[in-house]
Amino acid sequence: MTKNTITVFKGDGIGPEITDAVLEILEKAGANLTYEIFNVGEAEYERNGALIPAAGLASFEKTHVLLKSPITTPVGKGFRSLNVTLRTKYDLYANIRPAKSNEAVRTPFPKVDLITFRENTEDLYVGVEEEIDENTMHATKIITREKSERICRAAFRYAEAHGRKKVTCVHKANIMKLSDGLFRSVFYEVAKEFPAIEADDKMVDAVCMMLVMHPENFDILVMPNLYGDIVSDLTSGLIGGLGLLPSSNIGDRLAMFEAVHGSAPDIAGKGIANPTAFLWSACMMLEHLGDNETAARIRRAVDATLKEAKSLTPDLGGTATTHEYTKAIVEKL
Ligand code: NAD
Repeated sequence: MTKNTITVFKGDGIGPEITDAVLEILEKAGANLTYEIFNVGEAEYERNGALIPAAGLASFEKTHVLLKSPITTPVGKGFRSLNVTLRTKYDLYANIRPAKSNEAVRTPFPKVDLITFRENTEDLYVGVEEEIDENTMHATKIITREKSERICRAAFRYAEAHGRKKVTCVHKANIMKLSDGLFRSVFYEVAKEFPAIEADDKMVDAVCMMLVMHPENFDILVMPNLYGDIVSDLTSGLIGGLGLLPSSNIGDRLAMFEAVHGSAPDIAGKGIANPTAFLWSACMMLEHLGDNETAARIRRAVDATLKEAKSLTPDLGGTATTHEYTKAIVEKL
């Protein structure tokens, strides 16, 4: 197999710690990769005046594949979130977040196996806000046919390719009749192209309630940006927390893989971060590159480590450090 070159962004907070852990596991698992590694984020800004060095962006434009650890969004300095910037700049429109129960991580929900497809480039995230007067702020929500169509199609295509049975459109079209109404009607138009896949729709508030009662009833969920952000964090709670939810951000040309969680400043530097979500994101990247075998080997080693429960990080109820957890996975590869 030819060696793939990928770009790696080491972010802020726990970013560097979990990146080191993941790169070590990828190497020990025999992933056929070479890396172009860059420091990005707040610390890089303090050093060099840019959140992402130009060479880092050039590398991503060349390799087309980015493994990105979390970045702190500086508050109150007029910064747009770097994550939002990357997703829109490179049109990484499909944010795919699989939440699956793991028998080794005990939660009240042992049968979760669902995937959130979050539209990544519009909705309230376009960053159009205005101050009408000091007591009135407006934010603009943008939903277009083109962008709704491609995220819905991505969800159905994925369902078809992975033997999934149902896609549910999540919206609030009873209140946002025009914007969410458009998303919902486009969803049903796209659904007609996939007659073998069941299609239904539900209000986002009802979905939140149903998810914490019967998450096993959901399969694939597709929704606009803001609902996707919130609902996917909820799904991480169902399976044991943010440390366990991976994601990919896929466009037509480029793809970025990252954990759903942030830079966790409260535990940064303590050596106790859980690298699993980022590692599973790296497995999604290997699958994207066609290396299903290495991805499966890593997934098996993680499952065995979680099941053994001897080297779990504190967020999973253990006392192990990131390093000890990583070592346990490496021993099982
Ligand atoms: P967070 O996800 O960083 O942390 C929320 C809680 O979950 C914290 O208690 C944290 O300790 C815990 N946690 C998160 N990841 C963990 C892990 N791998 N192992 C163990 N515990 C973990 O959310 P936040 O505190 O709201 O955000 C911190 C910063 O991260 C902010 O600047 C935010 O903008 C940024 N952020 C970045 C991304 C990204 O880069 N994709 C995503 C979300 C938030």
